[in-house]
Amino acid sequence: MISSELRAYLHEFAANDQAKMVVLTGAGISAESGIPTFRGKEGYWKIGSVNYQPQEIGTMKMFKQNPQEVWKWYLFRHTVCNNSQPNPGHYAVAEMEKILGGKRFTLVTQNVDGLHFRAGSTFKNTLLIHGDLTHVRCSKDSCDTELLPFPEGIAPKTRESAISLEEWERLRCPSCGALTRPHVLWFDEYYNEKYYKYETALHKNREADLLIVVGTSGATNLPNKMYYNALNNNKQIVVVNLDSSIFSRTLEANQTGHVLLGKSGEILPEILAAIKDTI
Ligand SMILES: [Zn+2]
Repeated sequence: MISSELRAYLHEFAANDQAKMVVLTGAGISAESGIPTFRGKEGYWKIGSVNYQPQEIGTMKMFKQNPQEVWKWYLFRHTVCNNSQPNPGHYAVAEMEKILGGKRFTLVTQNVDGLHFRAGSTFKNTLLIHGDLTHVRCSKDSCDTELLPFPEGIAPKTRESAISLEEWERLRCPSCGALTRPHVLWFDEYYNEKYYKYETALHKNREADLLIVVGTSGATNLPNKMYYNALNNNKQIVVVNLDSSIFSRTLEANQTGHVLLGKSGEILPEILAAIKDTI
């Protein structure tokens, strides 16, 4: 249950048609849909008899050395995501966007699984700061093609599946013929505005009155920056997470904001209900 204090704040927020919100989501929200974080024990990938960690395989370095294995790993992950369903947390976020509209609401997500879209969030008001698996792009920097939708005609994959010759053809850039790459931010790459909307995310965050942080533990740079910007500027912050995190502990230490420990699939619908009551 959310506190009466938070409920009162959400009423006040919703009633002010100038007030803006950013919802920042991470792996925790999708873990409730059965998607592994790929940083934990599900993250390994075997090449021959060697086990690789995501930090090794999700890199440009590995893609240059062994694009076949990198694509096999991503096609397997793509299948896992396609077989999962959005949960009530994803639906609540989509509903908040619908109620508040694009002027007041922005979703910033670290997740590449596409579940927010399948729940009804729109591309227009969503910043995919780590990219997403529903798109690919040319692997050649010099080729100026836009993002491409994930190619059709690629069969679902297990960890053991091979990629057929015909599927390899579908993974080529239609413009220059080079191999495409997953549209995701790799561990040896940096955020940018062109692909990952880095500046836009910071701008939206600066404009917002309320930041709701869901299921992210603060391991990456941009979410950290957004959180501390909001904290240092005395914005209202709500942290929703299964366990305590650096974000929840900082809020508690500063005696500010709201920490809601539990399932986002249960807590986000409560936040939505408080907003809906008002509008
Ligand atoms: Zn190309």
